[in-house]
Parts: sequence; C-alpha cells; structure tokens
Amino acid sequence: MSECLFCRIVGGEIPAAEVMRTSEVVAFWDISPQAPTHVLVVPTTHYDDAMAMSSADPDLAGRLLRAAGEVANSQGLDAGYRIVFNTGDDGGQSVRHVHAHVLGGRAMSWPPG
Ligand code: AMP
Ligand code: ZN
Repeated sequence: MSECLFCRIVGGEIPAAEVMRTSEVVAFWDISPQAPTHVLVVPTTHYDDAMAMSSADPDLAGRLLRAAGEVANSQGLDAGYRIVFNTGDDGGQSVRHVHAHVLGGRAMSWPPG
C-alpha cells in the first residue's frame, strides 16, 4: 500500500469526489475548497512535483494541463479560473504528489497569499 495520499486516491483506496478519470489523469474535488470550484488534477503516475513530472515526461505534463482546462470547461468556468502548482515548502505544497489546483467561480485576487 502506498504511503502517498494521492496515489491512494488514484488507486481507489481512499474515496474522492471524482470529476474526470483517464488512464493517466484523475481529477477530484479538493476536500477543503478555497473557491466555489476547487478541483485537483493529478497524474496516475507518482511524481513529487511539477518539475519532476515535466522533466521526466513533458508530454504527460502537457496533457495534465489540458485536462485541467477541460475540468474548468466542464465546471462552467467561462469567466476565467486559476491553475496553480504549489511547489515545495515556500510554495505551500503539503502533498508531495504533483497536482494542479483548478480554482474558479469567484474573482481571484493578486498577489496570492
Ligand atoms: P497543496 O497544499 O498545494 O499540496 O494542496 C494539497 C491539497 O490537497 C489541499 O488543498 C488539501 O485541501 C487537499 N486534500 C488533502 N487531503 C485530501 C483528500 N483526502 N481529498 C481531497 N483533497 C485533499
Ligand atoms: Zn503519489
């Protein structure tokens, strides 16, 4: 059994509210949503962070980004949205399995916290 939370969600050991699943990408609602729409998009293969994924498999990184856009479209985020890859301690990354946050349904502020 994997120690990684998102590998366990990918493997179905931990339930999640999924909105998309392919052989290489899973999208599910964040358990603590920070916007009216807050979905996480993860590769089914484990990489620690965005740099590790995009270095090892840039085509997968591109498809994950496209999946994030498809999630936004499927959630009706026509007015815009934000895609975020928190990376490392200063980036606020708490789960070390790369994931895109897709946030929308309200106007996003800048700069981020
Ligand atoms: P980050 O802090 O960028 O690593 O994002 C990790 C995200 O995973 C946070 O927004 C958490 O709310 C979310 N999260 C943690 N546990 C779960 C879970 N079991 N199901 C869905 N989302 C989760
Ligand atoms: Zn993992």
